Amino acid sequence: MTKVLMVASEASPFAKTGGLADVLGALPAALNACGDDVAVLLPRYGAMPIHSAKRVSDFPIWMGGKWYDAALLRIDKGAAYYFLDCPSLYARNGYYNDADGDFPDNHVRFALLSRAALEISRRVFRPGVIHCHDWQAGLVAAYLKGRYSSDPTFAGIKTLFTIHNLGYPGRFLPEIMPEVDLDASQYGVHGVEFLRDVSYLKAGLYYSDELSTVSPTYAQEIQTPEQGFGFDGLLRSRARSLVGILNGVDYSEWDPQVDKYIAAKYSADKLAGKRACKLDLMREMGLSNEAAGRPLIGIISRFATQKGLDLIETIAHDLMRLDISLAVLGNGEPAYEEMFLSLAKEFPKRVATRIGYDLKLSHKIEAGADMFLMPSRYEPCGLNQIYSLRYGAVPVVRATGGLDDTIDESTGFKFREYSAAALLSAIRTAVDSYADPVGWTARMQRGMRMDYSWLASAKRYSGLYGSLTGSV
Ligand code: ADP
Repeated sequence: MTKVLMVASEASPFAKTGGLADVLGALPAALNACGDDVAVLLPRYGAMPIHSAKRVSDFPIWMGGKWYDAALLRIDKGAAYYFLDCPSLYARNGYYNDADGDFPDNHVRFALLSRAALEISRRVFRPGVIHCHDWQAGLVAAYLKGRYSSDPTFAGIKTLFTIHNLGYPGRFLPEIMPEVDLDASQYGVHGVEFLRDVSYLKAGLYYSDELSTVSPTYAQEIQTPEQGFGFDGLLRSRARSLVGILNGVDYSEWDPQVDKYIAAKYSADKLAGKRACKLDLMREMGLSNEAAGRPLIGIISRFATQKGLDLIETIAHDLMRLDISLAVLGNGEPAYEEMFLSLAKEFPKRVATRIGYDLKLSHKIEAGADMFLMPSRYEPCGLNQIYSLRYGAVPVVRATGGLDDTIDESTGFKFREYSAAALLSAIRTAVDSYADPVGWTARMQRGMRMDYSWLASAKRYSGLYGSLTGSV
């Protein structure tokens, strides 16, 4: 049994923009079920459904020569979730940015989160391991190995840093160092410096005792110059401390047998409800009934370069020459929002685009779609393709990272080369296969019976904690 404090910027259902939140929403409870004792620290953002939270204590934090007036709140939901309430830093509409771009004080906002983790370890919950997620929690290990290295309070606490996405370095000007209490001696190749800036991600990668990422293939890919974002050299040098542990799925939320958002329940053995879900989705998104017999392709995505949307843009018109319809949900880069909106305008009966973030619709698309498209340039793990398996929305994916690890030729369709032609060819193969209902149903059912529940992954994390603290 290890006491673990997780530090992150998102956890479902409290705050979510992507897969990180799904992990922090489910893994802690799975670990507790394995016998560990896990608590989670998050910022308390402006719009957050935590009205039942209890105030634990005032929690003033001293950083960079000034006091931050904060408080600590707590909710128990499969694990103890602590929220750092510091309205001057977090009580805003966005988590990281607003319409004007990234918040200019993000370096302070997430440094304070790391400092709060250490203060919690001192005053509230003493962990054997602090498990940090992505750049927002990158400074924990830098503080432990820097200004707190001689403080006996923290002696023996180990750190695990999990990379959910290497593409976000948390990069700031070196001048911020005194403001966030980083020692000048930590600026350098052997420290927080990255391309003459400070990178909170680099801090996590360099100072943490152990590193992990969210799929075995991504663990290999990030050690290459192509996928390393400049960190590949460091990661190669730390290869013996780097493991890939696949994310799991919370099937109490993502399973058509229990999903509270969808029109009809169904399962691999009782597929009838899936058609009702398809019709419901088409009605809701305004797609023509005439399209009900043809394959409906779903896309749910952050509209970021990572997601391979440029490939879809290139083949959009070839795609529409196939006998398919398209249901798209996402938001992000305006050029991609525009691209999907104009495709819907051009083909109103067959393409429906919703711009925005919509949890309910995301469930309905999984349930209603026949195929699910994820042509990612890179994908650390990817969750939607795993959800898609369970919903019988056959994944069409690029063979990269976690997509490669979770989808095979018997459950989905894969292409390897990052090219529009390869994507189109994979979609063509999928559409051709759809024409054979018996083969298609068998493929769906194979996917629906795959089991990616958290238990296996939680056991691996638990083993990692045990080996870090020397208890196994
Ligand atoms: P990433 O973390 O890179 O965004 P993942 O596939 O790991 O990709 O996780 C994405 C998660 O975010 C899934 O749970 C998906 O359903 C959700 N999601 C992404 N975009 C939207 C959106 N526009 N509306 C609702 N949910 C979304």
